Amino acid sequence: MAERTFEDISKYVEWQSQNKCKVLNAKPEHTFNDLGVEVRVWNVKTDTDGSWWVVEGDEVPMNLYPQGAYYFGTDEVYSFHMGIMERMKNSEYRPEDFVKAITLNDDIAPQLFRKLKNIANLIDSAIEIEDFQAIGVQCREILIELGNTIYIIEMAGEDEQPQASNFKKKGEFFVQFYLRGSDNSDYRSIIKKLTESTWDYANKITHSHNATFYEASTCVTLCTSLVGVYENIKQKVFDPISQYKCKNCKSKKLKIIDDESGKDGIVKTLLLQCEECEDITEVIFGNKN
Ligand SMILES: [Zn+2]
Repeated sequence: MAERTFEDISKYVEWQSQNKCKVLNAKPEHTFNDLGVEVRVWNVKTDTDGSWWVVEGDEVPMNLYPQGAYYFGTDEVYSFHMGIMERMKNSEYRPEDFVKAITLNDDIAPQLFRKLKNIANLIDSAIEIEDFQAIGVQCREILIELGNTIYIIEMAGEDEQPQASNFKKKGEFFVQFYLRGSDNSDYRSIIKKLTESTWDYANKITHSHNATFYEASTCVTLCTSLVGVYENIKQKVFDPISQYKCKNCKSKKLKIIDDESGKDGIVKTLLLQCEECEDITEVIFGNKN
């Protein structure tokens, strides 16, 4: 950005002034760069609206402060200006940060991320009961979308296909499909509980006549974390060797030396070689088809 000129500063002050003043004189009184950005404080005199300090700089929004009554010198006005800017920066609510924090920054399908960001934003301005109900509706939509994102028809195996909006069932099939065996039984059980209670709670908020900000906020947090949980399962599945150790020396330093995939593209068997003892471990993934 080019440095601002006398004309820029004059125009700004004349535009901001309540008294339709004219700038008589404006000069940069002091330049600061102790915070890593160059910030200039201008001394501005007007015909009918007194004297002003104007603070501006690279990447620093311009603002003006009256001289005399409150701001005696350039040091003072500079500290004050930078303090305000810093606070504005920190108090700025960014819904995507909320989503990222709860989901531990996992990669989330873009259509889900957009919707999560949207409700994280809505909750901030929700006041009336209809606002909270609308958040419940949005949460339901997110869960249905999550169901569509995680589910493929092969997951039902011999069972009847779930209805398009049956998120609970899709979640159940997904978990059965990917998290097999007794090692995963606690994990399966907690995800099932979380899935069912989140869905039920979103439905409850949708029809509630006494939900407050706190219940709606809980619902948003539950939905967001559930998306993160399913993302975690996918990562566990696509990081197939994370759960195995060498059958000979129990080391987890395994590398894949061969794999075989089914026609659905999902890996069925893996040959893992131990980097410690060179023993080979074969892993066969449970798959109904
Ligand atoms: Zn080994």
